[in-house]
Amino acid sequence: MYEMVIGLEVHCELNTETKIFCGCKTTFGAEPNTQVCPVCMGMPGTLPVLNEKVVNYAIKAGLATKCKIRAVSKQDRKNYFYPDLPKAYQISQFDEPLCERGYIEIETEGGSKKIGITRIHIEEDAGKLIHDKEKGTFIDSNRCGVPLIEIVSEPDMRSSLEAVAYFKKLRAIILYTGISDCKMNEGSLRCDVNLSVRKKGEEKFGTRTEMKNLNSFTFIQKAIEYEFKRQVDIVKAGGEVVQETRRYDQATGKTYSMRTKEDSNDYRYFPDPDLAPIVTSKEKIQKLKKEIPPLPDERKQKYMQNYGLNAYDAELLTNEKEVANYFEKAAVYAKNKKILANLIITEVLKMVEDDKIKISYKSIADISNLASGDKINSSVAKKLIKDAWDKNIDVNKYVEENDLLQINDKVLLKKLVLEAIKADPKSVAAYKAGKSIVIKSFIGKIMGKTGGRANPVVVSKLLEKELSK
Ligand code: ADP
Ligand code: MG
Ligand code: ZN
Repeated sequence: MYEMVIGLEVHCELNTETKIFCGCKTTFGAEPNTQVCPVCMGMPGTLPVLNEKVVNYAIKAGLATKCKIRAVSKQDRKNYFYPDLPKAYQISQFDEPLCERGYIEIETEGGSKKIGITRIHIEEDAGKLIHDKEKGTFIDSNRCGVPLIEIVSEPDMRSSLEAVAYFKKLRAIILYTGISDCKMNEGSLRCDVNLSVRKKGEEKFGTRTEMKNLNSFTFIQKAIEYEFKRQVDIVKAGGEVVQETRRYDQATGKTYSMRTKEDSNDYRYFPDPDLAPIVTSKEKIQKLKKEIPPLPDERKQKYMQNYGLNAYDAELLTNEKEVANYFEKAAVYAKNKKILANLIITEVLKMVEDDKIKISYKSIADISNLASGDKINSSVAKKLIKDAWDKNIDVNKYVEENDLLQINDKVLLKKLVLEAIKADPKSVAAYKAGKSIVIKSFIGKIMGKTGGRANPVVVSKLLEKELSK
């Protein structure tokens, strides 16, 4: 049996107004080459001036992920040539990153698990190449010098689900701190997946490959599944995995070799002589700490302790700040927080499009209260959520006007049960012969007769009783 070993490198664009070493704007989607100057275009003789906000934001990311913040940190040149990198080097951090040795906690099938953060460093983004089949290749330098943090994890993940859970949690934490908009479709959050395989129980890691720029949760999961199988097949056949950078193709669901992997000494890193060391005082760290709002885990603990939610549900509700805010506002009105949480997780979140929840927190609380008070059954609750989506209805009035209240009346329900049994002797015989599943078709019929309003629990009990007579 083989297992996978995964480490993630995540690049995140910070939402500072200006770039990391000059005063150019960072607005996404501007006309190409309208947000540039000699510094970010890499003209000889220009000098970079570090934007203090970038340092502050990166420290916040470090504090939010339990990292140690270096008192003194430096910036280095990473040398390589590529057309979107006018200076032919990227200013990054090599051996003295701003933040180190942190961790975040994720929920897995086997409970919660800590994933180590190796380091968080600051660096500048490169420009963008635009390839046109007829006209050739264009360079847009607007992105040159947009501030990035790179968050490198320890190789602590053992499945695609863990990797996705880690990436989601990391995104949630960054969003809560407010230092980035984390829009994967605009490239402000990008993920490289490093993966190797080894025999279960073995300590030594295998040779890894790196899959670049995966920009959705689904792609991360699919790329990992594919690459794991590819590597296992190689090893099983007695071959060796080559250390290389691979590209995941969305259309085929496969990964393809791009280039053999460069090692850090290929980049000839050296300290940037134009930039002074970054000195961070304890006072500054304290001040930044105070600016960080309550993070997902804090809210998660609160939901578990005060509302009795399980860790998994609490994690789902806190993954997005807006969802957590929504849940908390509705929870003020909802009598049973578990039922409320359940409705939000199973129904509301499924309907979200473009991050918009289109049912008011008051309406979902009303629906939750009707459900917890046995006034409506779960299928009516579902229908109500659909009806209240987009429209501003008064849920309680709507239920009365449309006759949606649950039928709990045992006398009436028993009458319906007896009718149904009488009308279908075949199913009765089947039930008596041990085919207990036919009870479902009886429930379905009674639901049909009551417009979906019968209390399914009561009906099911009555049926069991009558059928076993
Ligand atoms: P670089 O990719 O820049 O050379 P590192 O060597 O520090 O950087 O590793 C980058 C990422 O690869 C880290 O997230 C680390 O956890 C992960 N990693 C390192 N070795 C392995 C391995 N054998 N299998 C899987 N992931 C690994
Ligand atoms: Mg790498
Ligand atoms: Zn500039």
